[in-house]
Amino acid sequence: MTERRQYDVVVVGAGPAGSTCARRCAELGLSTCMIEEHAAIGYPVQCAGLLSVRAFGACQVSKKAVLHEVSGARIITSRGSELAFDSGRTKAFVVDRGLLDREMAAAAADAGAEVRVKTAFVKRSGSVVVTRGIGGREEIPFRVLVAADGPRSPVAHDLGMARPPVFLAGIQAEVPKEMAGDLVEIYPDASPDFFGWIIPSGKGRARIGLAGREQVASRFSRFIKEHGGESCCHLVTGTIPLGVMPRTYGYGTLFVGDAAGFPKPTSGGGVYTGVRSAYHAAETAYEACNEGSTADDLLSRYEKRWRSELGRELELGFRLFGVRRNLTGEEVDRLVRVLNDPSLKSEILEYGDMDQPGVLLRRILKNPKIYPVLGILLRSGVRQIIK
Ligand SMILES: Cc1cc2nc3c(=O)[nH]c(=O)nc-3n(C[C@H](O)[C@H](O)[C@H](O)COP(=O)(O)OP(=O)(O)OC[C@H]3O[C@@H](n4cnc5c(N)ncnc54)[C@H](O)[C@@H]3O)c2cc1C
Repeated sequence: MTERRQYDVVVVGAGPAGSTCARRCAELGLSTCMIEEHAAIGYPVQCAGLLSVRAFGACQVSKKAVLHEVSGARIITSRGSELAFDSGRTKAFVVDRGLLDREMAAAAADAGAEVRVKTAFVKRSGSVVVTRGIGGREEIPFRVLVAADGPRSPVAHDLGMARPPVFLAGIQAEVPKEMAGDLVEIYPDASPDFFGWIIPSGKGRARIGLAGREQVASRFSRFIKEHGGESCCHLVTGTIPLGVMPRTYGYGTLFVGDAAGFPKPTSGGGVYTGVRSAYHAAETAYEACNEGSTADDLLSRYEKRWRSELGRELELGFRLFGVRRNLTGEEVDRLVRVLNDPSLKSEILEYGDMDQPGVLLRRILKNPKIYPVLGILLRSGVRQIIK
């Protein structure tokens, strides 16, 4: 069967980035169709569901998906050092990602976007997207294509686009576990090339997980055993792309969210940056439709937009990811002990920001209390960051 209606915009993927872009395009008056390969939006979940207050606000949803609120973090090393900071107010929400994604897709539909589930992107043929779904093979004509199809991005593969440079694997289990207080726990040694986490997700429940490049499965089973998470009711596995692809537009297509490699390289969190990239893509799609051009020089406005908002922090974060990988367990332990100084802790509390770690880093590097570990940081590559 051949579909004939031409849409201004076709969005592939109904995650947070795709739904935001589809909603915004529809609000701007563009005829918009969003396709999702799965029958149920939001599943399988591939996320720990920790969103800063700012990130949650950017999703523009009700609080239905919120399971818990956190006010700070504890960093715990295997050598026994600990750094805890509690702001005493909500810094982040722990959400049910399935519910969040469904609410965001419903908002896109309410704004006028057509949402089609169980409809998979197969390939692009000129200005037509070929899909496979319950109705069999279909063809959907479009003027602008938005790839919001997650880390694997079949659209990017189909178009032969260069991909993000780093892909981490992540595993997490939701387990019965009592946690004292409302702090997220970070375990650097659980995954020496990234970190492990324990996130309170409601009364008597926690999410225990880690991400990294190597030995992820074996490190995860060790980590979860150490923390008593034998009985798991929800296992999450997924890929986290780090480092934005060299070009986020081309062939009449804009790449948003994980498809483009937008997760923050310091935390792996990709909802905030993905949603923000989607807003910029919608503005650009609107201009492309109004001006009747999907040439590269028009679509390049998208890259200018997201770079001016997110570029600096993402680049800094990617360099920090390199620094982290160069640090040994002993050096991380020393760093944690030095950061436990009251004046550094008060800077962490005042300037710590999950979405903009550069602000805090620049403050801390100017504080003389950090000098005992400056040598370690410089050897690991911090020099390039503070230049
Ligand atoms: C273990 C783990 C923990 C994480 N924890 C956090 C966290 O705590 N906080 C945070 O902010 N981020 C976290 N992330 C990252 C976060 O999940 C992603 O950055 C976010 O989901 C990206 O949103 P997106 O809309 O770009 O892509 P996705 O959410 O991946 O959505 C892409 C959509 O495209 C669909 N799709 C794929 N191929 C096709 C196709 N061929 N046709 C049609 N549809 C298709 C998929 O089914 C999916 O629904 C975590 C990731 C992992 C793996």
